[in-house]
Amino acid sequence: MNNTEFYERLGVDKNASQDEIKKAYRKMSKQYHPDLNKEADAEQKYKDVQEAYETLSDEQKRAAYDQYGAAGANAGFGGAGGFGGQGGFSGFGGSASGFGGFEDIFSSFFGGGSAQVNPNAPRQGDDLQYRINLKFEEAIFGVEKEIKYNREELCHTCAGTGAKPGTHAETCHKCGGRGQINIVRDTPLGRMSTQQVCDVCHGTGKEIKDPCTTCRGTGHEKIAHTVKVKVPAGVESGQQMRLQGQGDAGVNGGTYGDLYVRFQVAASDKFERDGSEIYYKMPLEFVQAALGDEIEVPTVHGNVKLKIPAGTQTGANFRLKGKGAPRLRGSGNGDQYVIINITTPKALNTAQKEALAAFAKASGVEVAGSGKKGFFDKFK
Ligand SMILES: [Zn+2]
Ligand SMILES: [Zn+2]
Repeated sequence: MNNTEFYERLGVDKNASQDEIKKAYRKMSKQYHPDLNKEADAEQKYKDVQEAYETLSDEQKRAAYDQYGAAGANAGFGGAGGFGGQGGFSGFGGSASGFGGFEDIFSSFFGGGSAQVNPNAPRQGDDLQYRINLKFEEAIFGVEKEIKYNREELCHTCAGTGAKPGTHAETCHKCGGRGQINIVRDTPLGRMSTQQVCDVCHGTGKEIKDPCTTCRGTGHEKIAHTVKVKVPAGVESGQQMRLQGQGDAGVNGGTYGDLYVRFQVAASDKFERDGSEIYYKMPLEFVQAALGDEIEVPTVHGNVKLKIPAGTQTGANFRLKGKGAPRLRGSGNGDQYVIINITTPKALNTAQKEALAAFAKASGVEVAGSGKKGFFDKFK
């Protein structure tokens, strides 16, 4: 009897905690996920990992497995375990308006694909991801985009049955519809009989003798699919949006998976943005800063007048209330901060030089470079 194999599949110790098991499961699932790993045996390894996790994540099944091996774990514990695909989704809402972290999303990829006790049970299709590139202003004001991508849809020829029109799946010739076959082996302990999933029908008990030529019996075909996405005002890079039912088609009448649209927002050459706050660096002549002025400042909502008080220093910042980006959660806009950057005039003409020399004199400041006898001139 082998009661360590499941641990080996996940690469964990027999005394591993549930946390360690979960972590290992995620890592291995990702490593062998057929969408990510194109090696020939990846799918089998992926299934093996699912099966191991199915048992080890359930303390009751795990205890039975530790004592009796795989047969013990499956005896008397029906049901597909306790980890459905919809577990981590409270933050998302049913419509295309919710947001969540990547961790939430990631768990969904592996929710629906767990080892199924009943291979004929309806299974939801895979979730898909799509990245939308947005201009800086599009992310602030929202935009409607049409996106096109390939997804698995139910085959239009056979409507998903996989059988050639006019034919249908028949009872599997090898297992007689049971989905399981008995393997009898002589071992040193005597004759042992074990049950295995039928390799012809993969446990469904049904066999398609005349497969549909469009989908080659899979029931699915890859089709270009177009969706309108209403990007809400105020989104940021890295945020995602779920479009329910826009993923791949399900199996055995299961629903379509979801599409996760991930935003990538381009930088602006004028503004910087942090959430709903926008920052703008305003260059200001030192005379404007010294005397005070009323200036026009660009914002994403158009130009705004701003009073600069006399004696303003570099680095001073002024808040333009409500001139930032919309708050994604909550209402209204954030603010824009105008950060003053005082510029020193370059290449002065004679009149400017004279005026500044007079200014220096009035200020009681001796400036070596201002007169004809400058600091450097003294060394000539
Ligand atoms: Zn078909
Ligand atoms: Zn069979």
